[in-house]
Amino acid sequence: MEKLLKMSSKKILIVSGTHGNEINPIWAVDKFTKSNNSNLEVNNLSFVKGNPSAISKGLRYVDIDLNRSFSKKVKDPNENLYEFKRAKFLVEKYGINGLMPCNIAIDLHTTTSSMGTSIVMYGRREADFCLASILQNKFGLPIYLHEKDINQTGFLVEAWPCGLVIEIGPVAQNYYDPKIVENFLIILEFLQNTEFNAENIRFNSSSEITFFVHQKSIDYPRDEDKKINAIIHPMRVNMDWKIIQKGDPLFLDIEGKTITYNESHKVYPVFIGEAAYQEKNIAMSFTKKETMNIPKSWFNSFLL
Ligand SMILES: [Zn+2]
Repeated sequence: MEKLLKMSSKKILIVSGTHGNEINPIWAVDKFTKSNNSNLEVNNLSFVKGNPSAISKGLRYVDIDLNRSFSKKVKDPNENLYEFKRAKFLVEKYGINGLMPCNIAIDLHTTTSSMGTSIVMYGRREADFCLASILQNKFGLPIYLHEKDINQTGFLVEAWPCGLVIEIGPVAQNYYDPKIVENFLIILEFLQNTEFNAENIRFNSSSEITFFVHQKSIDYPRDEDKKINAIIHPMRVNMDWKIIQKGDPLFLDIEGKTITYNESHKVYPVFIGEAAYQEKNIAMSFTKKETMNIPKSWFNSFLL
């Protein structure tokens, strides 16, 4: 009976291993499901491994980044690639109109950057804001709102009516860190034990939400051959979410010269030095901090 009471009408899909070399969320989910004697479902939670082929190889992906493969285009040049087909399979099985429909997708990731436990949102969907505010209210997590970035699209959670990424770091790729595993388990237990109904959400809502809005990403300084010739400055390493202003150091070049931030407005950098983003020509992303009152409409959209 108690279990029934705790069951939510919202079905939540928990995805681990969307990136095959981010192994701590995979371990955390396996530990969580084992302790609940189930592989596939625990109360309102369903579980799936995002990219089994990449997981078996210890790679971020096989052909293309799965977390950029949920394109809305009918005809896509990538349609024969493994991850594109996998994305289609996941939506057909667990999408809102799928065989085992889920209302919400929560995609578990790790980063090599010192982001702590954080939330990544894509765009300004009201239901996402609502879920993010519940988590921020409960755990005080920072929120990175990724929007208006034409170079990066097709994120997994965008294929569900509501969805967020939980991003925890720093941890190296393919390295098991029990502290990181523990942080994922705290989130999973909260999701398992929370009834996402009107009463409970109102109870959990804070009046304000603070989030960090994506402004732009910057690449490493490079030489004429496009080779990186400056690394993250020692004063910038592990300083994710910490404000920078004009004149603050960003990079240290091979000759020991400091390259500084030269724009007039203050920004908060995130994903500083993320290993997986070198191939995307991203050394860090700049964000702007925003705080706003939580409108009622968010809860209405979430509860729809
Ligand atoms: Zn990832």
